[in-house]
Amino acid sequence: MSRTALSAETRPPSVERLLAHEAAAASAEAYGRTALTEAIRAVLAAIREGHEPLAESEELIARAEARLERESRPSLRRVLNLTGTVLHTNLGRAPLPPEAVEAVAAVMTGASNLEYDLVRGERGERDSHVEALICRLTGAEAAVVVNNNAAAVLLVLNALAMRREVVVSRGELVEIGGSFRVPDVMVRAGCRLREVGTTNRTHLADYAEAIGPRTGLVMKVHPSNYEVTGFTAEADAAALKHLCAERGVPFVNDLGSGNLIDFAAYGLPPEPTVGRALAESDLVTFSGDKLLGAVQCGIVAGRADLVAKVRKNPLKRALRVDKMTYAALGAVLRLYLHPERLKERLPTLRLLTREETAIRTQAERLLPGIAARLGDRARVTVEPCSSQIGSGALPVETLPSASLVLRPPSGPKGEGAWLKLLAASLRALPVPVIGRVGDGALRLDLRTLEDEAELLAQFEALAI
Ligand SMILES: *Cc1c(COP(=O)(O)O)cnc(C)c1O
Repeated sequence: MSRTALSAETRPPSVERLLAHEAAAASAEAYGRTALTEAIRAVLAAIREGHEPLAESEELIARAEARLERESRPSLRRVLNLTGTVLHTNLGRAPLPPEAVEAVAAVMTGASNLEYDLVRGERGERDSHVEALICRLTGAEAAVVVNNNAAAVLLVLNALAMRREVVVSRGELVEIGGSFRVPDVMVRAGCRLREVGTTNRTHLADYAEAIGPRTGLVMKVHPSNYEVTGFTAEADAAALKHLCAERGVPFVNDLGSGNLIDFAAYGLPPEPTVGRALAESDLVTFSGDKLLGAVQCGIVAGRADLVAKVRKNPLKRALRVDKMTYAALGAVLRLYLHPERLKERLPTLRLLTREETAIRTQAERLLPGIAARLGDRARVTVEPCSSQIGSGALPVETLPSASLVLRPPSGPKGEGAWLKLLAASLRALPVPVIGRVGDGALRLDLRTLEDEAELLAQFEALAI
């Protein structure tokens, strides 16, 4: 019986016969015989169990190859973030500049001086690779780096206020997202929370009354993801710092998204800088991958004696970061030394400062290509929209932008199902395209699109 005579009625070929087939040679070479054998077994099992029809040997081998290809794809992959949120926590926050990627690659493939002082030829301190830069850019006396800002807050609380009271305004007992709630972190750090003031108003006198012999520190939490408006009052930070100094307790400011530059100078909504916050507190904590635009990490910066205590805490070892983080963070911080070119070299700042007109022009330039690729499967228009900064930075400010808007060809009937299918198809692309669904449309905010050819190539592969 010839191979081509194999029909749906006959029994499937054996694993051995498929493995020996000339069409399987390339896969055996690429993925190895072990993996190919397993894939072929899975294909045959799917036929036996009635999930897939029997087919010619070539087709069965192609199915096995498709399986191998799917399995060899990494789970964590590049996606196109067109959600309109520039620093999207679920999509990996800040994109890194090539300088950071090169710095990481340079120390990853061999040994490095991570904890080795090359001048003295003895053991060194891993934070030394970025500490001087952080101090230079913020005015801090000293700094340590840990896994993220949540870790920075935990470490500071534990190092400076274990078994003591931490004084915080009721208006700042916030949930940052996920499971990071300030009161819970206090408990885990071994501190007792001492709430002062009310949700909308806290005065200097409230703090003055609460600070006593059991106080470990006074903490201020930046309202990253909300805004209290109306009849509000908060204690003046400089006055609060003065009060804390008088009473001999540290004043710590959890900034969340610590930015190092004056945003207003770049035409962006103003946000207090780390330097400014440090002038009004003893210690600040902030994230590396929010407005700063580097990798995930948390930075504690400020008074040298307090930073030394934080560094000595045993939790520092548990929360410390890898050489990759120092390499990438250092490279990004060095870009800040050249502020004239920062806007073009630091991706986060470059994306945040893109002009609405440039984004609209880009959308109009892409419109014919995207519309042609979709044909009669969708109606595509260019519409204005608002981008968000994201990651708890400037929660109520938005940036004017432009988007490609995809709507069902047949109008609102069956719209929900169509949008679901379209969004799923975009997510299934080789480089998944993540947009925003709402108001009967799928929107692709182009503020964060830098590689137009990549988007067009994805639509080429779209199957709906
Ligand atoms: C984002 C944020 C955190 C948590 O920072 P991560 O780097 O995500 O761990 C803590 N506090 C504030 C005020 C924040 O905005």
